[in-house]
Amino acid sequence: MPIHLNDLDVATETEGLRSALIIPCYMCPAITVATREKKPFIQFISNFLKSPPFEKYIKGLQSALSERGLETKVFESRFVHHWFLCMWPSGRRRKLMRQIDSYDATIVLGCDSATETVRELVGANSCKVIQGMEVVGFMNAKMKFSLPCNISFEDCRIIPVSGQKAKRGVK
Ligand code: SF4
Repeated sequence: MPIHLNDLDVATETEGLRSALIIPCYMCPAITVATREKKPFIQFISNFLKSPPFEKYIKGLQSALSERGLETKVFESRFVHHWFLCMWPSGRRRKLMRQIDSYDATIVLGCDSATETVRELVGANSCKVIQGMEVVGFMNAKMKFSLPCNISFEDCRIIPVSGQKAKRGVK
């Protein structure tokens, strides 16, 4: 039951800043990007524990921000138990806390819960917390395994969170 997300305008939010740490959640955002590009989420053989569409998305974001004079670094999470930003273990949180001081802003690629994790770690620090994605709804899809060792999602639909208006299709 991953969450489906839309991109937010990060460029405007980072106007006037010099540096930012991009903090991706590697689960729902990676599935969202792979699904909207109709590409496999994971290709274990060629890209072990990386989601190529999401890696490309992050690089594109870095390059767009760099053109506007913003220097960025990615806080990478390679182990599966680090992928879910909403459930990071304490060691992971401490590691991020040690790095936050060096940046003007953090850009969180994830849902409100992901942003809350980061906001809590930023605490009283002057580092700005920017949410780079917003929740659209829950994803309902068919998981598909294909050779050599790929995982994709098909027939995706977005199920609105209770109280939100229904949205059709996957954007
Ligand atoms: S932090 Fe949000 S986007 Fe990331 S896995 Fe948890 S629910 Fe999904």
